[in-house]
Amino acid sequence: MSQEIRKTTCHGCTRRCGVLLTVENGKPVSVKGDPSQPLSRGFMCARGRALALELSQDPHRLTTPLKRAGKRGEGKWQPISWEQAFTEIAEKLRSIIGESGPEAVGVSLDSMISTGLSFSGNRFARLLGTPNVFTMGGQTCYGNSGQIEMLTYGHDTACDRANSRCTVIWGCNPAWSKPEFFRYIKESKARGGKVIAVDPCETETVKLADLWLQNRPGSSGALMLSWINVIISEDLFDREFVTNWCNAPNLVRRDTGKLLRERDVIEDGGAETFLVWDETRGRAVAYDADAMRYREDGVRAALRGSFPVMLADGRKIECVTVWERLIERVAPYPPETVERISWVPAEKIREAARMYATTRPGNFFPGFAMDVIGFSANQCGRARSVLNAITGNLDVRGGQLFLDGPSTEVRNDPGPMLSPETYARTLGADRFRMWSWEASMKMFKFQKRIGAKIPSPFYGAHSAVVWRSILGEGPYRMRALINVANNPMLSAGHTEIVEKALKALDLLVVQDIYMTPTAELADYVTPAATDDTECARLYTGGYCSGWLETQSFLSGEQAVTPPGEAKTDFCFFRGLGMALGQDWPWENDEAFYGWQLEPLGYSSFKEFHDEVQWSIRPPKYERYKERGFGTPSRKVEIYSMILEDFGYDPLPNYCEPPYSPFRTPELYREYPFIMGAMRPRHFYQSGYRSLPSLKARQALPQVRLHPDAARKLNVKEGDWVRLSSPSTTRTIEMTVHLDSGLDPRVVYPDYGWWYPDLPASENHGVWKSNINVLTDDDPEHCCPMIGGTFLNANLLRLEKV
Ligand code: SF4
Repeated sequence: MSQEIRKTTCHGCTRRCGVLLTVENGKPVSVKGDPSQPLSRGFMCARGRALALELSQDPHRLTTPLKRAGKRGEGKWQPISWEQAFTEIAEKLRSIIGESGPEAVGVSLDSMISTGLSFSGNRFARLLGTPNVFTMGGQTCYGNSGQIEMLTYGHDTACDRANSRCTVIWGCNPAWSKPEFFRYIKESKARGGKVIAVDPCETETVKLADLWLQNRPGSSGALMLSWINVIISEDLFDREFVTNWCNAPNLVRRDTGKLLRERDVIEDGGAETFLVWDETRGRAVAYDADAMRYREDGVRAALRGSFPVMLADGRKIECVTVWERLIERVAPYPPETVERISWVPAEKIREAARMYATTRPGNFFPGFAMDVIGFSANQCGRARSVLNAITGNLDVRGGQLFLDGPSTEVRNDPGPMLSPETYARTLGADRFRMWSWEASMKMFKFQKRIGAKIPSPFYGAHSAVVWRSILGEGPYRMRALINVANNPMLSAGHTEIVEKALKALDLLVVQDIYMTPTAELADYVTPAATDDTECARLYTGGYCSGWLETQSFLSGEQAVTPPGEAKTDFCFFRGLGMALGQDWPWENDEAFYGWQLEPLGYSSFKEFHDEVQWSIRPPKYERYKERGFGTPSRKVEIYSMILEDFGYDPLPNYCEPPYSPFRTPELYREYPFIMGAMRPRHFYQSGYRSLPSLKARQALPQVRLHPDAARKLNVKEGDWVRLSSPSTTRTIEMTVHLDSGLDPRVVYPDYGWWYPDLPASENHGVWKSNINVLTDDDPEHCCPMIGGTFLNANLLRLEKV
């Protein structure tokens, strides 16, 4: 029998490791990492190997389109053809749109989106006319941080990890979640680099660190403000960068608390032109952001102080610099105070702030834990963005680099934008305003000055608002949901409301590789081909953490035949779109990737894959010196004009999570543990629970618990415990895993646990051990700017079963 080696790319996490898969008669027989892939350099983890060898052979895979034959969730299905599925779904969509308009249809996509899924999902929605596209991950994982960087810098960033001397890993355990990235951290350490870890749990990553800050989940914002406090009070900041490239010298009015604008002092002055206090002239002077210079020569901008300014109407007011306001903001957060809030000793806070500020260049690698702590999630991103800037670690070799994508030439536009009125009707856009098309367009106006060609992609519907809209809580009712590669019964907070909402839909269509707890509630379920080995793929830019990935093109070829009639997500959207009369000129994924690559001179995807496969755009440093930043002031906005305009706090702040020992002490007495977030080592999100080699590594859901806490609860390793939270009357159960690296007041339950082999009547055990049964998606508890949900840092009670 003939064997062939296929060069492909793992989709098991965001690292995209290169894979050499040996295939015999269309089936995988062995796998190894591809040493020629410049990012992964031959690395593959256990999950990647399991996906390559087992996923296409898994008997749990869906193989044919299914139509519901019983009641919702009853588990009765009738196999149908793709043609019947597309025809019937299209007919129902037409009827719903005819009655309620296109925004009554939602499109929900996986957060670890491949290029084909992202493009096709967004194209389908745009051609349909609905603005209600959402992912579970958008506001809870990276999109959140990315949007905050966009409004602070005019760009999102990633670590130049290969050249850093100090890596801060905050709320993240790449040793488990991004093992290939962890290897780079080890290499940096071997070169003499420093590592600072901020984590409630002594993870494998923490064990590598020079300094470990074991903080209380939910307190990161206070800790970051304390770092800023130390860095400013000990004069460790980069004065030149802060004075010339941050809006630190800009004046803020004491009477309104708003930035002083040129129109305040001159009748026909600019509404988005800002003033500084010129120490030479002893008066306020405007900075022309278009020309990137002061309106007058020889200006010496004051960094600190309070100054009298005459307004155009003749009134005299007091103004202070942004820097002065920042100092006032961080003054209540000296390490001694934050020790009480964060549980980190004051001396360690000082030591970490000093190490980060003085070991340059430095990287800051944030985990998603901070994006899901409710109220102050986005303010953590703001404080982190300010830390990167005031230490001079932006846009420099070894620091945080600005993302341009691997090429500005590649085609990526999914189709004509909708009207501003339609975008304004996006569910959640009026509440979480920094996740709106309006906010992205406002930023785009300034980003264009530094060459941006498309607006920030961080906008869309908010899942918590979507569920409530389906349940009739307004502003209008979503009636149909097309859910692709997404499992909100596990991945969204507050499972109870998700189930109620999904059951209340007039039409739920799920395209997935498995019959998930979400798929069980659908009207139609269609079988997906995986992105791992069963289709061609082109990644045009990767994800967050590593700069190199985000600047790279990576291709992978189809290596095995998808099971049964499984179709790629691109072909799903294309087929359904065409049944609705939409224009989809590409026959399949490969044709689409070929179209994307055409402007770069490739005649087809195959040509790129055979001749190139990996291509990385080389780094460019210190571009800000020529073009400034893509913000209203053309500088790093420590004080954000955009946040001010949208009615949010323009400076980083901190507030306690919705439930916490300090905000709700009475609840803390009842629920005495604080929850950290951790996904099981060998799985990704809620996926792959049925793969034999991964099940062999971990068969049961675990809650990590300190041995002292276990003793008090009278439980030992492997015992089952019942978990409850103040957010619901439901409970779940997990097994105890003792971990002496945890604070005894903190527990870490596994995320995303379900039981594929349990029957549909129990919806595959979705209520048994799924931590999101206990979490909270109340919009009142979400971060008001972007809507980061309160999934982490909730209070928990544990009892022996
Ligand atoms: S799961 Fe992630 S780290 Fe593991 S092989 Fe795949 S891409 Fe690489």
